[in-house]
Amino acid sequence: MRFDIITIFPGMFASLFSAGVVKKALEKGVLEIKVHDLRDYTTDKHRQVDDRPYGGLEGMVLKPEPIFRAVEALKEPQGSVTCLLTPQGERLDSRLAEELAHSRQLILICGRYEGVDERVIDHLVDREISIGDYVLTGGELAAAVVVEAVSRFVPGVVGKEESVRHDSFTAGLLDFPQYTRPREFRGYRVPAVLFSGDHQKIARWRLKKALEKTLARRPDLLKSRQLSSEEEELLEEIKRERKDS
Ligand code: SAM
Repeated sequence: MRFDIITIFPGMFASLFSAGVVKKALEKGVLEIKVHDLRDYTTDKHRQVDDRPYGGLEGMVLKPEPIFRAVEALKEPQGSVTCLLTPQGERLDSRLAEELAHSRQLILICGRYEGVDERVIDHLVDREISIGDYVLTGGELAAAVVVEAVSRFVPGVVGKEESVRHDSFTAGLLDFPQYTRPREFRGYRVPAVLFSGDHQKIARWRLKKALEKTLARRPDLLKSRQLSSEEEELLEEIKRERKDS
């Protein structure tokens, strides 16, 4: 899968993708990430990308022409989705990240200043994406978040795809607790069930813990999820234990 990021600050991405899972995926050729300087798509000698908003008010707005030129030059004929990072967009979540991972190419336009000329939204982009209800100074960090979240769903990026299945939200639940060596640290013990060698028992314990966390922190996730009979049973057990304690 290929990401094309359009930004006025290409240097911001230099270290972001040079470590960890994304770096490995780039080396393997499973991912390709290209960062493009919006100024390269200007035609004037000042390489101007922004201008004052019509109708007055403070601040600057990114002009439409360089953005249109950049997208039109980069867009692949098929399987390409052009996204604008904006706080006004559809909120990024696991479901959206997985859906976007089916594209061949994602073009990510990073806004700055007061945002982009509305004609970009009306006539160029396919999706507007927000990473949360707060305002950043630019779309660069948001684009990096999209790259990370989407890449995890691209086959071959995360070594063990099994671990993506267990991640929080992928299965509509928060993840279960994880432990590693040592077995005991400052008197805090790792739950004994994890040493039992009984895989069925461990799986049931993990599911129960995931349900417990989700019920406590994100009960909304449980409402939008079809529960299996085992999950129903465990939830009843959790509620009973809560009442008794
Ligand atoms: N005036 C705009 C508004 O209120 O909708 C905010 C502009 S913001 C200062 C500059 C740029 O940062 C935006 O164009 C967008 O690309 C990016 N940005 C800010 N917050 C974001 C968010 N929560 N998600 C995605 N992108 C964001």
